[in-house]
Amino acid sequence: MAVFKPTGTLHCVTELTPELLKALNVHMIVLDVDNTMSPHGSQTPFPGVRAWAQSVTASGVKLIVVSNNYKKRVAPFAAQFNLPFVSFACKPFPLGYLRAKKMAGTPRRECLVVGDQIFTDILGANLCGMRSVLLDPLSPDPSATVRFKRSLEGFLRPHYTRLTAGEETVKSKA
Ligand SMILES: [Mg+2]
Repeated sequence: MAVFKPTGTLHCVTELTPELLKALNVHMIVLDVDNTMSPHGSQTPFPGVRAWAQSVTASGVKLIVVSNNYKKRVAPFAAQFNLPFVSFACKPFPLGYLRAKKMAGTPRRECLVVGDQIFTDILGANLCGMRSVLLDPLSPDPSATVRFKRSLEGFLRPHYTRLTAGEETVKSKA
């Protein structure tokens, strides 16, 4: 179903290079936290994410953290990166994404949602007309609800294709 389909997939967030973002005309990224920037619930980012955020920001792309998790989890994480955030965003409802768009002052067509879950991150992006990238889940999911959603994702993920920019294909690091 189109409403669950991302613009493309990548293995991890660090594959979104400044060059690729420029080719895609992306000027703002809506970033999920758990299993996108760090293991679930951890304040320690995945390897390379800190340097990635610095290089993307330096290239002129705005980053805003939008998470369904609570403020006490999201605020200190975003502060490490000096990034604005929206916590308890209630994804897939579009409110958090639209708030981030307003905070950045970026047109919707130049926004890109990045996350690891189809039924929250990607569905929400499609509901508010933003492009999206679905990442591989890199750490175990502690909640039974998420594990159940992962089993459903298993039917959909094989139908999605890797994110590309024109002739360039982003090669998997998997
Ligand atoms: Mg997540």
